[in-house]
Amino acid sequence: MSRPAGRPSADGGFVKEIPPKDAEFSDWYTAVVLKAELADYAPVRGCIVVRPYGYTIWELMQQGLDRRFKATGHTNAYFPLFIPQGFFAREAEHVEGFAPEIAWVTRGGGAELTEPLGVRPTSETIVGHMYARWIRSYRDLPVLINLWNNVVRWEKATRPFLRTMEFLWQEGHTAHRTEEEAEAEARQMLDVYRDFAERDLAIPVLAGRKPESEKFPGAAHSYTIEALMPDGQALQSGTSHNLGQNFARAFGIKFLDSDNAEKYAYTTSWGVSWRLLGGLIMVHGDDRGLALPPRVAPFQVVIVPILSGKERDAVLEEARALARRLAAAGVRARLDDRTEVTPGYKFNDWEMRGVPLRVELGPRDLARRQAVLVPRAGAKDTAALERIEAAVSEALEAYGTQLFHRAKRYLDEHIVPASTMAELVEAIAGRRGFVRVRWCGAATCEAALRQASGASPRVIVDEAADGACLACGAPGTQVVYYARAY
Ligand SMILES: [Zn+2]
Repeated sequence: MSRPAGRPSADGGFVKEIPPKDAEFSDWYTAVVLKAELADYAPVRGCIVVRPYGYTIWELMQQGLDRRFKATGHTNAYFPLFIPQGFFAREAEHVEGFAPEIAWVTRGGGAELTEPLGVRPTSETIVGHMYARWIRSYRDLPVLINLWNNVVRWEKATRPFLRTMEFLWQEGHTAHRTEEEAEAEARQMLDVYRDFAERDLAIPVLAGRKPESEKFPGAAHSYTIEALMPDGQALQSGTSHNLGQNFARAFGIKFLDSDNAEKYAYTTSWGVSWRLLGGLIMVHGDDRGLALPPRVAPFQVVIVPILSGKERDAVLEEARALARRLAAAGVRARLDDRTEVTPGYKFNDWEMRGVPLRVELGPRDLARRQAVLVPRAGAKDTAALERIEAAVSEALEAYGTQLFHRAKRYLDEHIVPASTMAELVEAIAGRRGFVRVRWCGAATCEAALRQASGASPRVIVDEAADGACLACGAPGTQVVYYARAY
C-alpha cells in the first residue's frame, strides 16, 4: 500500500513522535502538550499560548468549578490587573512572600508613574481595600465573591500549565462575621476542590492542612489538595486559606456588630489554576498521548464511519444521524468524515488527543443495525443503533470510573510508611511517592525532616499518629505526607 509522503503511518506514526512516558517523563509531557495542540510556547519566555483544544478543556474545568461555587452561594466579580505598590506592604508576611515574584509597571503613556503598579500575583490586597469600603455592618456579611482572572508571577523555571509566568485561575475571596464561619468556608472550599478533582478530573487527592512553613503568606491556616504524579512527585492542586483577621486589620475591614461593637471581619481566599490541566495530562496520559476524563473532554465521542464500497453514502448518512442524536442527548460528539486519511489514521489521531470513546460504523454494522464502541485504549464492544445514546452514556461513565480507579490504585500503592528518618530519606530519594510521616508538631523537627530528606511536608491529614515523631522520638501528634513537589 502506498502512502503519500509526510503522512504518519496508520499504526505507528503518532506513537513514534511521543517519547515513552515512563522512560522520558518530562519530554513525554512536553510532546503531549504540543502534539495534542493544547498549548504552544509564546514569544515571551515563561508564557504559553493556549490553543483551542486546550482552552476548551479549561472552559469545561471552569464550568465544573463555577457550578460548584454558585451552588455554595458565591457570585463572580472582576477586579483590576494593576495594584498600587503601597497595597502590598500592608500585610507583612504577604509582601515578603510575594515580593520576589511581582512584575512592576513603572512607566505608562510615556511618563514615569508616581506610584509603581504591581501586576496582580493574587488579589487579597485590592480585594481587602474594596471590602473595607463595602462592609459596614454585620448585615453586609458574609461577602462571597469569586474572581476568574489571570495573574503574573515572575518565575525562573517554567513548564506549560504547571508553572508559567502568567496563568489563568480563579480566586475566591470571602469575608465573615466570625472566626468559625471563616474556618467553615475555608474547609468547605477544600471539599469543593476535592470533589471537583476526583469526580470531574478523575484525579484522587490527599486533602488536609498545610504545615506553618508551607502556608500562604498572611494566612492563619492553609488547606490543600495534593495529587501524586507518575514520577513520584506531588502536585499541589488547589489551596484554601483561612486568613483570620490578618488582611482585615491590614486593610481596615471592620463592621458594626449586633452588639454595637466595631469588629474586624474574618476573611478567606481559595484558588485553583490551569495547573490542574497539567496534572490531568500527567496522571491519565500514556505512550499514545493524552487521555481525558469524559467530563472535561472537548469531544467525548468521535464517530468514525468506515467509508468503503457501495454502502458508503448510507453509512455516512447514518453516521451523521448518530452525531445528531448524540448531540441531542447532551454528548459532545464529533463526526470525523475526512476522506483524505484512513480510518486507522483517525483512530490514532483521536486516541492521541485523548477522546474517551470511539464509535465505528461500517457497512456490515449498518446491515446489523449496530455500531462498534471502543473506549480509548480499551476493548471493542457493539451496541444496537436503537439504544446508542444509552450505550454511549454507559461507556463514558465506565471509562471515567476506570480512569479514577486506575489513578487511585496508583496513589494507594505509592503511599509509603516511614518509621525512621532513614526510611523517609530512602523513600524520597527513590521517588516512591507520598511518604507517611509521624511528627510531634515542633517546627525544629519539621526543619530536620525537610533537611534530611530534601522533600517538603505536603499535607497534614486528619489521621491519628500511631507512633513516635521521626525526628525527635517524642510521641507523634500528627501525620504528615512528605514528597518532592512540582
Ligand atoms: Zn519531634
